[in-house]
Amino acid sequence: MLAAGIIPNDNRALFEKFKVPVNAEGFLVEAHAKLRPVDFASEGIFLAGLAHYPKPIEETIAQAKAAASRAMTLLAKDALLVGGVVAEVTSGRCAACLTCVRTCPYGIPRIDEHAHAVIDPAQCHGCGICAAECPGKAIELKHYTDEQLIAKSDARFARSR
Ligand code: SF4
Ligand code: SF4
Repeated sequence: MLAAGIIPNDNRALFEKFKVPVNAEGFLVEAHAKLRPVDFASEGIFLAGLAHYPKPIEETIAQAKAAASRAMTLLAKDALLVGGVVAEVTSGRCAACLTCVRTCPYGIPRIDEHAHAVIDPAQCHGCGICAAECPGKAIELKHYTDEQLIAKSDARFARSR
C-alpha cells in the first residue's frame, strides 16, 4: 500500500548526464541488487531513497547510511589505486571521429581542446570496446595490446603442436 501513490519524477536529462540507468517505471537501477546495492556501474555515484524504488523510511535511512559509507571509502583515501587494464589514446592517430565517445558504455572518453580523444585512466573500466571500435586504431588497451595478444596466441599454438 505504501508504494501505491509514488510516481518518479521525469529526470531523464539528469540521469543521462550521469549515465545512470532507469527501469521501465522510471526508477534508478543499482549496479547489482545483492553485490553492489547502493552503487551504480559508473564509479563514484551512489543511490538511496525513493528514486531507487518506493520503500519505507527505515529502509531509506539504512540505504542512505550505506551510500554514505561507500562514499567514505573513496573520500577517506589520499590517493586511489586503479586497475592496470585501461585504455590509452595515441593522440597523433586520433581523428576526433567521436566513435569512442559514442560507444563507451560508461561515457569516459571526451575530446579535448586539441581535438584529440582523452580517456581518464582512473575512470576507465577496461572493457576494451573503444579500442575495438576505433577506426584509426588510436586506442590501445594496456595489457591487451595487439603484440601481446599475437604473442600469446603464437605461444599457445606453438605449445600445442
Ligand atoms: S574512436 Fe579513435 S579516432 Fe575516433 S575519436 Fe576515439 S580515439 Fe579518436
Ligand atoms: S575501455 Fe571501456 S570503459 Fe574504458 S574508455 Fe574504453 S569503452 Fe570506456
